[in-house]
Amino acid sequence: NTNYMKLEFASKSTNEAFARVVVAAFASQLDPTIEEISDIKTAVSEAVTNSIIHGYENAEGMVTIESRIVDNEIEIIIKDDGKGIDDLEKALEPFYTSKPELERSGMGFTVMETFMDKLEVVSEPGKGTKVRMIK
Ligand code: ATP
Ligand code: MG
Repeated sequence: NTNYMKLEFASKSTNEAFARVVVAAFASQLDPTIEEISDIKTAVSEAVTNSIIHGYENAEGMVTIESRIVDNEIEIIIKDDGKGIDDLEKALEPFYTSKPELERSGMGFTVMETFMDKLEVVSEPGKGTKVRMIK
């Protein structure tokens, strides 16, 4: 069983719900449990939100989601061409946020790590960020 999809959309917060529903629909062919679908939706939502509010800082840009199904696993890659992350190690720490004034809790990456089986983040300051998750 292999399958692939790619989705590109404008970095608007109204597209967060859209993105997580599309990925959940794509993942449904794996016959996931309700809990698994909910985990995937939450992780996608966190990554997409990050691209919109941190990557593009609410300016216009494009967010890309690629997803691949191989056997019983789903890989999800969420990419932006935004500002990137200067200190990735710090960004991945629980409770670290660069926007405490927006009442962010700094738990997005921790949530992705907890709800997915694998999380990899590649980021280049000034170029963008790529989050790869597997479940
Ligand atoms: P929360 O997700 O709990 O609302 P948060 O978004 O600040 O808070 P994380 O999602 O864990 O917390 O991200 C940690 C930090 O990493 C962010 O504060 C931001 O500085 C940086 N970051 C995350 N994703 C991106 C991105 N796509 N582009 C640029 N910076 C990012
Ligand atoms: Mg976040």
